[in-house]
Amino acid sequence: MAALVQLRDVVKHFPVTRSLGELVRGEHPAVRALDGVSFDIGSGDAIAIVGESGCGKTTLGRLMLKLTEPTTGTIAFDGTALAGLAGEGLRGFRRQAQLVFQNPFDALNPRFTIYRAVAEPLLNAGIDKAEHEDRVAAAFRRVHLADLDRYLDKYPHQLSGGQLQRVVLARALVLAPRFLVADEPVSMLDVSVRAGILALMREVRDTMGLTAVYISHDLALVRYLCGRTLVMYLGRIVEDAPTDEIVRRPRHPYTQALVAAVPVPDADQPRVPLPIKGNVPDAREPPSGCSFRDRCPHAMTRCAEVAPPLREVAGGHRVACHLELA
Ligand code: SF4
Repeated sequence: MAALVQLRDVVKHFPVTRSLGELVRGEHPAVRALDGVSFDIGSGDAIAIVGESGCGKTTLGRLMLKLTEPTTGTIAFDGTALAGLAGEGLRGFRRQAQLVFQNPFDALNPRFTIYRAVAEPLLNAGIDKAEHEDRVAAAFRRVHLADLDRYLDKYPHQLSGGQLQRVVLARALVLAPRFLVADEPVSMLDVSVRAGILALMREVRDTMGLTAVYISHDLALVRYLCGRTLVMYLGRIVEDAPTDEIVRRPRHPYTQALVAAVPVPDADQPRVPLPIKGNVPDAREPPSGCSFRDRCPHAMTRCAEVAPPLREVAGGHRVACHLELA
């Protein structure tokens, strides 16, 4: 299937305030949020981006929606580079690509009624007001909030977390987008309502034929939602494969540790937790060579000297680890 989204060698560095010493030495320290990320997302695909906080996954999502610009590298949507978009071209992209926020309690303006919040993207996109009511009603039906009169005149604080996340999803869908980025879409919700929201997201994706990216630290969640998973560590993709393959046969030591931490009952698959020591290193000064080497139980001399490239090791399975590339 043709790629809807293409990233090539995307780098994103955030400059940080310089210390006196750095000022004197003429150094320009930066947080290296992303360091050379390349992948395609096929039209209609659902992919997951997983990793610990600070791995760069949220920055990656924001870049794909042109909410921030890469330091270097290119991102294209439907064959058009995002960097060159402005005016009507940019407005057209904004109609097609939407974000589902992590925290529904913060995503909606507390002074707007629910109707106004969901209709706002229509207004911003210049859609004729005569169409708003029908479009809002259609979006509400998609997220199973069909009893419109119960919600439209209410304010966000009058709704539960689950209802709010449905409203946030309706707001993202009201323009009938083609591409959705969901950043930890259920992490702020009670466990009791998460399954319902996840099932809804999958249903919406299937019925609308959406291309979707789910950003999460939770492999159990992405196993349910996505056919393909990218694992990120310190601004780089370390593994990229079909999600089943990632869960059943993770190849990168970091992915193995993530999978070992997922409580998935499976009698055929013994899970021995792997040691993973320490925390994610400072993104201003990542280790030389493989950025995971300080925490890796298999680190070798070579790992400190050469950064392992992300290479295909089996059909559709890419890994960045010297053990797999030997
Ligand atoms: Fe571990 Fe070396 Fe592989 Fe990095 S390249 S994950 S340090 S074995």
